[in-house]
Amino acid sequence: MSLKNFPLFRTGIGQDSHRFLPADSSKPCMIGGIIFEGVPGLDADSDGDVVYHALCNAISSLTGVPILGRIAVELCRKDGITDSQVYLEKALQTLRGQKIVHIAFTIEGKRPRLQEKIDQVKKKVASVCSLHEKQVGLTVTSGDGLTDFGCGEGLQCFCVLTTVEAMVLPDQIGHIDKK
Ligand SMILES: [Zn+2]
Repeated sequence: MSLKNFPLFRTGIGQDSHRFLPADSSKPCMIGGIIFEGVPGLDADSDGDVVYHALCNAISSLTGVPILGRIAVELCRKDGITDSQVYLEKALQTLRGQKIVHIAFTIEGKRPRLQEKIDQVKKKVASVCSLHEKQVGLTVTSGDGLTDFGCGEGLQCFCVLTTVEAMVLPDQIGHIDKK
């Protein structure tokens, strides 16, 4: 079988979690680039956006380029950039020929009320990634009081990322051809 022009699909996975700051903190709670009211911000050097960070990690799992561990740390410490959208934009550049087909997120947390802003988060992520909002999926769960997230101590997000390379040259998939 010739694999010339064979579309190469990849799946990436990423996770991130942060604890809430004390109730008297004035830091806004950012989730997927959207501010959620009624809860303190997340404890991180950056804005602590678990959705953007999970996506950065999913991208790193495909590219091998450490975004949160290296590039974001440099942006934060050297340039004082705490906006995780900037980290995500850097991460997206590292995908190069890999085109995003779909991004799926799931967030666990007792607070805030995530359900109310699901559509806003999906639209925001789609816009930053230059995707249609139907290419972004998001489910949320309260965690039922089981984990620290389910007890309202913080937030956890998982991300599964699917990419495709529209055209793969035979020499790039030689290891597949040999099988
Ligand atoms: Zn994080």
